[in-house]
Amino acid sequence: MKTTLYICMACITGLTALSTIFTDLTGSTAWAARNVTSTVTTALSGDEAEMLTFMREEEKLARDVYIALYQKWGVVTFSNISKSEQTHMDTLKKKLDKYLLPDPAQPVLGVFTNSDLQAKYDQLIATGSQSLIDGLSVGATIEEIDMIDIQHAIDVTTHLDMITSYQNLLEGSKNHLRAYVKALAAHGVTYSPQLISLELYNAIIGL
Ligand code: ZN
Ligand code: ZN
Repeated sequence: MKTTLYICMACITGLTALSTIFTDLTGSTAWAARNVTSTVTTALSGDEAEMLTFMREEEKLARDVYIALYQKWGVVTFSNISKSEQTHMDTLKKKLDKYLLPDPAQPVLGVFTNSDLQAKYDQLIATGSQSLIDGLSVGATIEEIDMIDIQHAIDVTTHLDMITSYQNLLEGSKNHLRAYVKALAAHGVTYSPQLISLELYNAIIGL
């Protein structure tokens, strides 16, 4: 009796699951049909727009700090990574254009519309100019800041194209962090993560 009851329960559960799948399939077919006939881009929410605007200038902060530190120390790591930050800036400019948002990034190096980023830039330049080791450490810390903020930007968006772009930026930041840590190691310095967890840091560095 017990066995029969279990089988019947399994049948019911199976049927419920099947009907759920059919509902989902019907739902997604209707959704797909709607998308075929519509080319309208869904606008970003206030939070999404705010994060995109912020990230565009935060990528500029990374680029501008690395350009300044390359001029100061002449180490190629800074100039290589500054070029990568330019591509990150370009990616986000395309998104601002797509979603009809104004560009906060000013053309002048080291000048920011967001006053928090301006203060951060000034502080990072002051620290990074003290020595090459300080400069490389500032680079690693900027990448940690970027990773945390990009992850936050991913968390607040529902737009798949935004998630994809941010994830590419995140992979770039991981590469940059590895490059700065490697450059520090070449100078006999072991970098310690300032903001991200040791567990995440070790996973990125491959320790
Ligand atoms: Zn970047
Ligand atoms: Zn970077």
